[in-house]
Amino acid sequence: MNSYHNHCNWSDGSNDMRDMYRAAKEAGFREFGLSDHYVKTPFGDNEITSYSMDKSRLAEYVEACLACKKEFDSDDFTVRLGVEVDFFPENAEAVAKELLQYPFDYLIGSIHFSNEFPIDHTAACWEALPPGGVDEIWHDYWKKIRLAAESGLYSFIGHLDLPKKFCFYPNYDYTDEAIAALKAIKAAGIAMEINTAGWAKPCKSAYPSRNIVKMAHEMGIPMLISSDAHDTRHVARFFPEAEECLREAGYSVFTCAFEKMRRK
Ligand SMILES: [Zn+2]
Ligand SMILES: [Zn+2]
Repeated sequence: MNSYHNHCNWSDGSNDMRDMYRAAKEAGFREFGLSDHYVKTPFGDNEITSYSMDKSRLAEYVEACLACKKEFDSDDFTVRLGVEVDFFPENAEAVAKELLQYPFDYLIGSIHFSNEFPIDHTAACWEALPPGGVDEIWHDYWKKIRLAAESGLYSFIGHLDLPKKFCFYPNYDYTDEAIAALKAIKAAGIAMEINTAGWAKPCKSAYPSRNIVKMAHEMGIPMLISSDAHDTRHVARFFPEAEECLREAGYSVFTCAFEKMRRK
């Protein structure tokens, strides 16, 4: 069992970094990576972007992870060092370049914003959208996923279909847009994840939904299982359910090998 998408209190997680790695080791993971948020928007910081780590302390974050590696690595456990990057087409390359000065094992590319609209912030944000606004966010979201994959900057793409979090579903069939995004992921030779956090959210569904997992399997896209844990209690949350979902979609290997995650 391995897991690469998790957070500690360097960004918006509840627990200390060491406690997260310790919990993962005790839970029986063979590899575990923290991937705290690094959010640099083209529109500046605001209250909503406070889920990011303090960007001026990036070097310290890396140092702290490396100290955990020294402390916790053993024959049957490996600490991995990652970061979850918000993808914005305007600055993606510059941000990745900045991050890759450090010895990260991988970068996760995630979309939490459609322009300045915070996709996973609150249901009230979605309720306040003008007519047609929900569909616009969905159209833009799938386009951004495709662009993130095409950028070739990331090791894997985070939580596909996140806009469903508060149950604001589109009024159109997004299958073609999702296929275009998956094709870009496949072409980039990168992985994606089944992110179990969605099962604990209003949508009560992992990201992405089963039909997308099935399409990903048909295209031969390597799949990881992530709980996107923000708390020591959640490091392996819904892993059995995720395995079941992957089995149903045709996957026989439940998490892709670390080596298959490409680091640019
Ligand atoms: Zn995320
Ligand atoms: Zn996350």
